[in-house]
Amino acid sequence: MLDASRPVYMDYHATTPVDERVVRAMLPYFTDVFANAASVDHEAGAQANAAVEAARDHVARLLGARSDEIVFTSGATEADNLAILGATEKLADKGNHVITTVAEHKAVLDACKHLERLGKRVTYLPVDAYGRVNLDELREAITNETVLISIMAANNEIGTVAPLAEIGAIARERGVLFHTDATQAVGYIDIDVVKQHIDLLSLSAHKFYGPKGVGALYVRKRGKRVRLAPQLHGGGHERGMRSGTLNVPGIVGLGAAADIARKEREALAARLRHLRDRLWHALQAAVPGVELNGHPTERLPHNLSVFIPGVESRSLLVQTKRDVALSTGSACTTASVEPSHVLLALGFGENRAHQSVRFGLGRGTTEAEVDFVAARVADAAARLRQLVAS
Ligand SMILES: *Cc1c(COP(=O)(O)O)cnc(C)c1O
Repeated sequence: MLDASRPVYMDYHATTPVDERVVRAMLPYFTDVFANAASVDHEAGAQANAAVEAARDHVARLLGARSDEIVFTSGATEADNLAILGATEKLADKGNHVITTVAEHKAVLDACKHLERLGKRVTYLPVDAYGRVNLDELREAITNETVLISIMAANNEIGTVAPLAEIGAIARERGVLFHTDATQAVGYIDIDVVKQHIDLLSLSAHKFYGPKGVGALYVRKRGKRVRLAPQLHGGGHERGMRSGTLNVPGIVGLGAAADIARKEREALAARLRHLRDRLWHALQAAVPGVELNGHPTERLPHNLSVFIPGVESRSLLVQTKRDVALSTGSACTTASVEPSHVLLALGFGENRAHQSVRFGLGRGTTEAEVDFVAARVADAAARLRQLVAS
């Protein structure tokens, strides 16, 4: 049943709650096993280190990676920066060109802008109306100077999933590294770094029921080993790629979340897809003219992004905020009134970017919540349209 005391949470792309099992796994590492995982001289340190290595193994298994290919970070923002800045710095002698897309997360786009300030060249490929790059354009953009392609696995606003294996094959064939920001994809769709020819992959625990402030970068070792220039200098932790005392409780939490995701991902995705489709059908029935943003089939199971013509999403969120926690798009840009760069990139103009809402479903979502939210959004949309018309 619905808990009327607080709004329904439908912003799971911004963050997720921590799974109770994950919390339980973490607790001993705050108080009991608190030693520094780098303290190799005593048993307590060895215990903390063993927990970190077990977590590394869980993360690796979720991705089809090997545990010595996982570098722990403070989250996906740091992993994106380490991948992009670290790889280009290391490959400076080989070339100075990077390819990405206009629909990436700010962590990738702003790291690329920084590269430009460092004198490197960045190509921002356009995306189609569904938010996907054209693979021929990608091929044509590669030059002898290209060292890295960074394309996200799944978009955090519109849910579109990229053809990872195809992009990876193109990058591999041309001898260019392929980085993917898979923060929204991990724990929801199948990721296999070997089959998908991924060289670098960013993820974050708090997007799949782990704690905030911890994530990882997968750095390929098998076949052609990827080398990165560290972006944090210090004690040489994480095989020199990321200095700083390890966040042992956070890493244990990430590992537990990854273990649960590996075992439960398919069942969770099926349930979320069903709920998401139910929400979409309810909105279509109750909101005249509503349209889907993003790809109709190649999309995250828990994402629904819709365009409600004539209804400003800001006003809609104000009207419905007592009932539901929703978002217009990315949490990092929510504070601004600028239209979403992702929605603009789809090429439909500013109106659609200002009149779109993102629903992010999650483990706690129920059919009752979906029906309630659809009804509240439909009511509010109808009221706002009347206001505009009168
Ligand atoms: C949330 C998110 C990030 C940032 O992750 P943090 O761990 O919060 O730094 C980066 N990329 C995408 C696609 C995201 O959804």
